[in-house]
This record gives sequence, C-alpha cells and structure tokens, in this order.
Amino acid sequence: MPIFVNEALVEPEEIKSLPGIYQHSIVSLNEECREISDLGIKAVILFGIPKEKDAEGSEADNPDGIIQKAIRRIKEKFPHLVVIADCCLCEYTAHGHCGIMEDGALLNDPTLDRLHSVALSYAEAGADIIAPSGMMDGMVGEIRYALESNGHYNVGILSYSSKFSSALYGPFRDAAGSADNFKGDRRHHQLGPGQRREAIREAAIDEDEGADMLMVKPATLYLDIIRDIRDNTMLPLFAYHVSGEYAALENAIENGIMDREDALRETFISIKRAGADTIITYYAKALAKILA
Ligand SMILES: [Zn+2]
Repeated sequence: MPIFVNEALVEPEEIKSLPGIYQHSIVSLNEECREISDLGIKAVILFGIPKEKDAEGSEADNPDGIIQKAIRRIKEKFPHLVVIADCCLCEYTAHGHCGIMEDGALLNDPTLDRLHSVALSYAEAGADIIAPSGMMDGMVGEIRYALESNGHYNVGILSYSSKFSSALYGPFRDAAGSADNFKGDRRHHQLGPGQRREAIREAAIDEDEGADMLMVKPATLYLDIIRDIRDNTMLPLFAYHVSGEYAALENAIENGIMDREDALRETFISIKRAGADTIITYYAKALAKILA
C-alpha cells in the first residue's frame, strides 16, 4: 500500500484526483498503518512531501526529514510491517526533476551521489527496503555500494527497473506535490511505451548491479512486459498499479459503469497471471477486504 506523508499537514487531506486516498500527517500515519496492519497487508511504500524544496532536494537526506521520521515511527509501532522507502529526488527538488539539473539537462552521475546519500539516510532511519524510482543509469549499483559499505547488509533494493513514461502518472503528481512548476518531461530517462526489449534489458542490468527485486510500472498496459521479465529472471517481480490506473477504474466504478468487486478481481488476477509476485496498489485496502 502506498502512503503519502506530508510534512506540512496536521490533518489527513484527500487527494482530489485519487478519491479515497489521502496525504497523511506524521500523526495520522499511525491510524493508517494500524488499519493496513489489521487488514493483513504486509508492506507499505512511503512517499514524502517536504515543506521546503531546493535545487538539490536537500530535504530528502535530512536525518529529521519527513520520511526519516515516518520510517522511525512505523518501525517503532508496527515492527512487523515491511517499510519500503521510495528513493528519488523529484518530490524534493524545487524544479520537480528526478535529479541534479544543469542547463536544462538532468545530470546522471551527480544524481547518483545524491541517491547514495538519500538511500543511506533511509536505511539509517530503519527502512527495510530502498526503492530507487528515478531510472538513473547505475542507481542500483550505487545504492548497493552505499548500503554494503555502511553495514546495512540486510536492507533490500527494489528497483523500479522497467518504468515507462506514461500518461497514467497524472494523479500521482498531485498526490506527491511534484507537479507545481514542473517543466519538461521524463521521457529521456524513462522508457517509451514501444521499448519492449529495452525494458527487459533494464531489468537485467539492475539485477547485475545487485537489485533484490525488480518492477514493472505501470501494470495493466504493460502485462506483456511483466511476462517478458518474469521469463527472464528468477528475482521477485513487482508490478505497480499506478495512480492513473486507479483513478480510471475508480471513475468507472463510481459512475456505475463497472461492478467494483468484478472489476478489481479481474484487474488484479490479470496482473498476477502475467507474472507479478507482488502488486503495489492504491486498492490494497479494498482488495484485502474483498479477499477476507
Ligand atoms: Zn523521480
């Protein structure tokens, strides 16, 4: 279950484009995790919205940053809940890009230095799994090195290895507050929808660099890619059913165009059938209730 934690909030706030999904305050996080845990959901993936943003995304590796606080709080109160920390700079940079910029271009290697430090900071706060999502070349190797050379041998890496540049991320940018003044796009580092072999190659590269788990994102428009990667690796494979997939389905259900339970069952069975071991979805709580 994805959770958004907003440093500026006192009360939880519903995300307009994701009906039923909230940004949480550090306080309401507690109740949300209790509900998630009571429903039998085993893991959460955290996204932070800091109060302050700058060119380097300095808040991302602040030891008292919003995600570091959230990780410590969850691990203290719900030690059995697996905490995955999404690791990218786009929620923390004032320009909204996933890394360090120069003359309008995203610089890959200086961004790796930042990811090294951010991943380490999340591990030190107690994260079980670091999930680099920026599709930088070499990000998994750099984070593996950061963790191993600092004694965090038991922290796993879930790579967003095969992440497509997609129209389905719109509501997420609302949710993560990363759209405000964002100019440009992520097409030069995320995959284009037609890049099937490149998606498999990216997964293989991340496995070589030391990823423990791989991911395909989004899910339903990329079921063939999930199957391709399933057939090419023995690693656990995640599929991320993203914000736009949730919003589209939710709109259809709310307008009586589809039956909720039928639509959810078919959607998630198809992702599983394609080869995903684990699904990240805003429907986690709804599905847990159906399955119970
Ligand atoms: Zn990013």
